[in-house]
Formats: sequence, C-alpha cells, structure tokens
Amino acid sequence: MSDEADVIVVGAGLAGLVATYELTRAGRRVVVVDQENRANLGGQAFWSLGGLFLVDSPEQRRNGIKDSYALALQDWMGSAGFDRDDEDHWARQWAEAYVRFAATRKRQYLHDLGLRFTPLVGWAERGGGVADGHGNSVPRFHLTWGTGPEVVRVFAEPVLDAERRGLVRFAFRHQVDELIVENDAAVGVRGTVLEPSDLDRGKASSRVAVDSFELRAKAVIVTSGGIGHNHDLIRANWPVGRLGPCPETMIAGVPAHVDGRMLAISEQAGATLVNRDRMWHYTEGLHNWDPIWPDHAIRIIPGPSSMWFDATGKRLPAPNFPGFDTNTSMKAILSTGHDYSWFVLNQTILNREFVLSGSEQNPDVTGKDIRKVLASRGGKGAPAPIEAFKNHGVDFVVARTVDELVAGMNKIARGPELDASLIERQIVARDREVANGFSKDLQLMAIANARRSLGDRLVRTTKPHRLLDPEHGPLIAVRLNILTRKTLGGIQTNLDSQALHADGTPFAGLYAAGEVAGFGGGGVHGYNALEGTFLGGCIFSGLTAGRALARTLS
Ligand SMILES: Cc1cc2nc3c(=O)[nH]c(=O)nc-3n(C[C@H](O)[C@H](O)[C@H](O)COP(=O)(O)OP(=O)(O)OC[C@H]3O[C@@H](n4cnc5c(N)ncnc54)[C@H](O)[C@@H]3O)c2cc1C
Repeated sequence: MSDEADVIVVGAGLAGLVATYELTRAGRRVVVVDQENRANLGGQAFWSLGGLFLVDSPEQRRNGIKDSYALALQDWMGSAGFDRDDEDHWARQWAEAYVRFAATRKRQYLHDLGLRFTPLVGWAERGGGVADGHGNSVPRFHLTWGTGPEVVRVFAEPVLDAERRGLVRFAFRHQVDELIVENDAAVGVRGTVLEPSDLDRGKASSRVAVDSFELRAKAVIVTSGGIGHNHDLIRANWPVGRLGPCPETMIAGVPAHVDGRMLAISEQAGATLVNRDRMWHYTEGLHNWDPIWPDHAIRIIPGPSSMWFDATGKRLPAPNFPGFDTNTSMKAILSTGHDYSWFVLNQTILNREFVLSGSEQNPDVTGKDIRKVLASRGGKGAPAPIEAFKNHGVDFVVARTVDELVAGMNKIARGPELDASLIERQIVARDREVANGFSKDLQLMAIANARRSLGDRLVRTTKPHRLLDPEHGPLIAVRLNILTRKTLGGIQTNLDSQALHADGTPFAGLYAAGEVAGFGGGGVHGYNALEGTFLGGCIFSGLTAGRALARTLS
C-alpha cells in the first residue's frame, strides 16, 4: 500500500475493527494506528463477556420471552432520561436508530459473520420498579458463544485478510497526539512512536518515545475508547450532584490503554464533546487476586438473591437488589459517606448466582467447550474461577456463623465497625419471609418474578431458601468496591458518525465511533444503560462510520 491511505482509524479496538472491516469491504485503503502492540488487537472487547443486547430474537422467543421494538424503546428512553436540548440532540436519534438495529438487522449481521449465542437469555439491569422508568422489562442479554474473543475474531479475521491483500496497514505502538486540520477539514494525525513492546495482551506498556510520525489521508475516524482507566479524568467529571461524592477508592475494570487522551486531542482540533458527566461504573467490583493490568478489578454480575448491606450494616432499600439498578445503587452506597458495600450470601447462592464479567473468567464459554460448561455450571459447587476468588480474593470472608462472618468483615472494612447483632436481625427477618409463598419483602418478590424466566430458573437464580440454613452454608460476605468501566458521553456525532463543530455543522473528514463517541451521537445511553449495549454500540457506530465514509469517498 502506498503512503496515502483513504482513511486513518485511530484505535484498533472493536469500533476501529468494525469501521475498517466496512471500509475494506468497499475497497477503501485504511491505516489503523494504535498505541499498543499487535497482541492487543480488539482492545477491551477481547476481555468482555460478549453480552449483546438484542430485541425480539429467536433466542428470546425460544425462552418464551415476548419482546418488541416498542417495548425496548420504552425501556431505553426510560433508562436514558434524555433531558439536554443540545447535548442530547443526536443522542436521542441514535437511541432510536440503535434500538431499531437491535430489533432488526443486528443479529443477522453478526450471524452472517459467524457469531452465535448461547441458548439462554440473561436478564441484566432489571431496573427501578416503574414501567416507564429505567431497566429491562424482559431478558435481553445474549451471551456470545466464545465471549469477547469471538466478537473480536469475527471482525479481526476479515481485517487481517485485508491486511494481507494490502488494503490495511497497522501502525502499532503509534500514539496519536494531534489531529491535523487544514482548511477546516481533518487530513491526518501526528504523534509519537513508542518503543517496541512484546508484552502480553492487557499489560500496561511503556510510554517511552523513540520517534515521531505524521500520517495523512482523506479522513480520520477516532475509535480510541473511553476514560475508564484514567481516574483523574473520572474524578474531574464525576457527577457529585447526581451520584454523590466521588469514591476515594476505585479499582479499574479496564486496561491502562483506556486513558481518554484522544477526547481532549479531538476537542483541541475543534470537535464538540458532550455529556462528560455521564459514566457507567459498577458497584460490585472485586480486587483481582491474579491481576493483568494495574488495579485490575473484576465485576460480579450477580443474580438477585444476595442480601446487600451498606458500609454501616444496613440493608440497601429497594430497588437496590443485586443486578437491578446500577446508578441508583451507586448513589445509595455513596450517600453513606463510604465507597463500598457488602453482599451477604451462602455457598448455594455463590454456586449459581455469581458470574464474573470477563472472558478469561469464563474459560468454558470462551473456549466454546460444551462439556466444560455443563460440568462447571451444572455440577455441585461454583465454577472454578469463582471458587478461586473465594479462596484467594481479599474481598471474601467465609464463615459458619454470623458472628464469625462479621468479625471477618470488620477485619477488611474500610469504614465503621459492623454490629453482628444488627446484621443477624436483618437476615433472620428476611429468612422468616421465605417460609411461605407470600412475602412483603420486595427482594423476595423480585426473586419469585426472576424465576419465571427460564434462564434465571435454570442457571441464575436459586430457589428461595433461608440464608442461615446450614445445609446451604457456609456463609459468605463479599466486600464490594467501585469498579470503573464505561464512558457514556464523548465526541458528539451525527447519524453518519461524523463529528460536529461547536455550531453543530459537520466536521469535514472527522468521524468518531465506539466508546469515544458515547457509543454513538455522544451518548446513546443517556444516563443509564440496559447492558450488553456497549459492544453493540461499537458495532453500530463503527459500521455507520465505515459505510458513510465508503459512500463519501467513492
Ligand atoms: C471486562 C469487560 C467486560 C465487558 N463486558 C461487556 C459486555 O458483556 N457487553 C458489552 O456490551 N460491553 C462490555 N464491555 C464494554 C466493551 O467491551 C467496550 O465498551 C468496548 O469494547 C469499547 O471498544 P472501543 O473500540 O470503543 O474502545 P477500546 O476497546 O478501548 O479500543 C480503543 C483503542 O484505541 C487505542 N488508543 C487510545 N488512544 C490512542 C491514541 N492516542 N493513539 C493511538 N491509539 C489509541 C487503544 O490503545 C485501544 O486499542 C466490557 C468491557 C470490559 C473491559
């Protein structure tokens, strides 16, 4: 390939791969620039669980779930809560387009590339308890057979094939520091060539410069990801008024390359950034006992049965049940003046209800090994990676009695001393409610509702039982930390994924897709996500950018 490419793509994560795939399908020549080495191809998506939001899919129908575009749009808009005229102008339109994509072309597009799903549909982010408010009314979380690496593979393979055919050139260890703008149009990038790195995927690499570079093309697509590993940027943009004080202790759910630098670089070049205060961090973070990147955190995707206590030992009020309403739970936790909380459960709940978000934490599904899936999820005990966290993780306490459990919790608490009798009283009260089919305990009512979903009943939600029943022991407490992950705002784009100037006019030659563009439009999720929507947002916005440019450049 000659030096002059048609398009420069900044970032070889999922959004960059999808855009490149679409451009090369149309015969366009692309240079993909990434600050990391080739081992990191696919970026965050490789580490992901590969959960994808689909609407009215064959998998849902086979699970007896009735879904529709209208219901999904109601859920999306209720979750997003768009309330800003300018900043949400394109985000609203992206939301409608994206939900339509999820209800129509998305599954077939991925299926044609060879992607398949596991048969049971998960019910993530069940919401705040109001029909037109936040949350999924029905299960929509489709787990990719092969998890994140498979999502990456189906786009990486055709892109690597295009590299062999000379349509794609990768510039790894090239860090972009500046967008070149001439005559109001983006025409290239300048940056630093970093020293070679042979580190494994996910490891934090050096930023030692060995050279500088400049590349020019007819257009630039920025697909550089969010700010999840840049805790300074997160602190600077934390919405104190909405979520409470920024947590003092945060652990990182994303690799170090998710540094957010390209946002300021794009803004300096004249792109408009919006919704910087909207983020999606999780309340169920564990310190990884076997870390890959600095401060490596793993999120528990919990089933609904653990009891959830704040740092002072009080049960969190409804709708703060595990896996229901991320931001409302964040606010409830931070309102105590502390930045952590506790799950209290037993071995039976651990066995069935804990899923760890991360491809490497689910080797059975990631390896597409049906026998291992049946052995690890259908047998006695928790899957091995979960047992490993229980045995080695600094956030776990295991005990036979409540007194012993709370003594262990007090050893690792970062705040007030917990009173064992207060905790025990609340558990006993909850356990009394299990004795019959009726209950006034909203969490138990939610569990009964969850078990009406096939996926939940079979693999995600235990039959209600007394937490203190020794047959289901031992008792387990888990200290839950704030885990940083997703950026919901970013570069504002129109429906072609084209960046915009401050006056709303399209920025010639500059496009943005994936997390850096708030997964489309500068914030397709608004304030809240329905889960499984991020990979799909990268796919939809990357596809849109690639196709728009393929058209424009023809
Ligand atoms: C553990 C985990 C589990 C997840 N699970 C799910 C899930 O189940 N479902 C879901 O929908 N989402 C999930 N996500 C979120 C999803 O994976 C990410 O939001 C998505 O992959 C982001 O893709 P991206 O292409 O926008 O950015 P990234 O993957 O961050 O890629 C950006 C690339 O740009 C490069 N870059 C950045 N700045 C520069 C620069 N200045 N110069 C050169 N290169 C640069 C980076 O090195 C990186 O390679 C998960 C994420 C993680 C980490």
